[in-house]
Amino acid sequence: MIKRLLLGNEKYFEPALAASGLALWDWDIASDSVHLTAQWQALLGGVSGLTVTSFSALTRLVHPDDYADVYRQQIAVLKGEVARYEIDHRVRKLDGGWIWVHSTGSVTRRNAAGQALQMVGVNLDISARKHAELALRASEERFRRVFVQARVGFHITSLLGEFLQVNDKFCEITGYTEAELLTRSVYDTQSPADYGDSQTFRGSLLSGETEFGYRERLIRRKDGTMTWISAGVSLVRDEAQNPLHFMSVVQDITDRKLSEKRLEQLAHYDALTGLPNRVLIHDRLRQSLAQAGRQEGKVGVMFVDVDHFKKINDTLGHEFGDALLQRVARHMSEAVRTDDTVGRLGGDEFAVILNTLSHGEDAQRVADKIKAEFAQPLRIGETELYIKVSIGIALYPGDGVDAGALLKHADVAMYSAKSSGRNTFKFYNAEMNARALELLRIEHGLHNALIRGEFVLVYQPKIDVATNGIAGFEALLRWQHPDRGMILPDDFIPLLEDSGLILPVGEWVLETVCAQLSAWERAGLDEVQVSINLSARQFSSKDLAQRFRAILEKHHVNPRCIELEITESALMVDPEAARCTLDYLKALGIKLSIDDFGTGYSSLAYLKRFPIDTLKIDASFVRDITSNADDAIITSTVIAMAHSLRLTVVAEGVETAEQLAFLSERGCDQFQGYFASKPLPAAAWAAPLSARARNRAAVAA
Ligand code: C2E
Ligand code: CA
Ligand code: CA
Repeated sequence: MIKRLLLGNEKYFEPALAASGLALWDWDIASDSVHLTAQWQALLGGVSGLTVTSFSALTRLVHPDDYADVYRQQIAVLKGEVARYEIDHRVRKLDGGWIWVHSTGSVTRRNAAGQALQMVGVNLDISARKHAELALRASEERFRRVFVQARVGFHITSLLGEFLQVNDKFCEITGYTEAELLTRSVYDTQSPADYGDSQTFRGSLLSGETEFGYRERLIRRKDGTMTWISAGVSLVRDEAQNPLHFMSVVQDITDRKLSEKRLEQLAHYDALTGLPNRVLIHDRLRQSLAQAGRQEGKVGVMFVDVDHFKKINDTLGHEFGDALLQRVARHMSEAVRTDDTVGRLGGDEFAVILNTLSHGEDAQRVADKIKAEFAQPLRIGETELYIKVSIGIALYPGDGVDAGALLKHADVAMYSAKSSGRNTFKFYNAEMNARALELLRIEHGLHNALIRGEFVLVYQPKIDVATNGIAGFEALLRWQHPDRGMILPDDFIPLLEDSGLILPVGEWVLETVCAQLSAWERAGLDEVQVSINLSARQFSSKDLAQRFRAILEKHHVNPRCIELEITESALMVDPEAARCTLDYLKALGIKLSIDDFGTGYSSLAYLKRFPIDTLKIDASFVRDITSNADDAIITSTVIAMAHSLRLTVVAEGVETAEQLAFLSERGCDQFQGYFASKPLPAAAWAAPLSARARNRAAVAA
């Protein structure tokens, strides 16, 4: 047929066709025979002997997925609906494998009835282009999927900032739909404060000053809320380096910002009270000092320590202790001005930075305010409790010029306030420092003092006011230091308490007193009573009563010869537990005495609940009974009330005949003090005691 078509021109056309790479076919419809040019045959794979001679055989080579299209188009041409078909489809090669062809065809002859008799077509091998196209489409599709589904936000904007393309994650971050974003620009998601920054940022990318920009900023979401994002932005250019658009990678960093904030909080604030911690206190103090230095101002640093906190914590439990510290923090914050800083240094230690003081006395006023905050009892759960604080104050520039020195000196002053009876404040002075150093050295030696036998007891008599005879003794502890000589208890008892050493030392005191009582008894002396001081820490140790009982039994000492002196504050820490311990001790036959009465809560009505035998009026009242009307009245009243409760009253620290006369007149039972005798070693009392025994024998005879 082709021959027929080319009719005599083959020799011109065949080489031309070969050169064009066109594959021609010619289909005689009635006979179904088809003629393919050599190029067609070559395309199908030149397997020798395998040729296609019928149109139906040729049709069977069309890829099944493409067949329907090819068929529909050929039918349309055959019917004369269209003049020519044109389609890309795949054809199976005779030796296997597929090629893509661009195929066209048209009817070249019809009979009179319009029936198609012959169809001619051209096929062009387009496999190479087709494969490249497919690869491109696949890669575009891959890119699109990555862009759309990435778990980071992407957006492409015009140079003016209008969104051109956004992905799902970016929609999620901003709360807008894709359609909404495509009608908006980056400025719609910006916080107004960020506008200027963002302009310069884009500007520096456009000018080529930077190639890539990274920023962390707040953006405004559709619902108006703000959220933290990080954005990496770069400029996209065409081949000629002309800027086309911006592309940004955006991440929601809210979680990170939150944990950064939490870390910052942890690093600079105390978790329990929310107050600035030691680190931040130092920072702020340094800032205050720098400013005060420039303006020649004054800064005050306060060290505030809760009195007896350790004891409260040990007795009432840590949870209670924590709640208490939170309350203390609140009260402290209320006592200072807004531009002052209250912080917690650790444990029960707080610091206050007083900015811009005009006088040192201003600090005193704040100290008074802090103390006043604790004038009322704190109620925590079921417990009502009085809190006292000791305060040390150091002033810039007089007491130090850097933060470290000022804090240290405020600490030293606080210690001094503590040792002068707590619940008070002290301004720093240089002697305190020397004393603080000495205390530190003392603490070092204290640990071995018990083992090395450096503790001794001295005995101060209690004198019967009516008979002027020895009614008993108070045992007082001394530390015979190898280098420093005699050290008084005020200098080391607090250290023993803090280290817990007070428990073994307290037992040693009882043992020694018991041994002394046995020795006096063996020497044929009359029974005497000895008082022993108990510190709060001992009193809150659970097995105190049992251990004391064991010691008494070991030495065969009658319990009524022992009296325990306890301060009111020790009782108030946990009144319920105190009742139990006291009841047990009382049941053993031990006598109980309230020490330093008048310095604590001084509620006789309250004390009635405890099985007390004796009340000791504190020396600070006795000192002024002859000169201060208030003290005289208080002392008289206490004696009268104590008697109504059937308590024996002992006055402490009697130094003059006038004091004794006053006490005697008011009916005080016993007294102690330098007026009768200083505390002396036991050996000094053997003679007076045997004189007493002789006297008594003489009276009896
Ligand atoms: P305290 O129980 O109030 O003891 C009375 C203190 O007043 C003693 O001081 C005593 O020497 C002193 N004193 C006695 N008469 C006079 C006087 O007329 N004028 C003056 N100015 N002072 C007088 P000391 O021995 O230094 O003891 C101080 C504190 O140490 C005691 O106060 C007591 O709370 C505590 N303490 C002493 N020994 C022990 C002990 O073995 N265990 C415990 N836990 N505490 C002890
Ligand atoms: Ca005492
Ligand atoms: Ca006392």
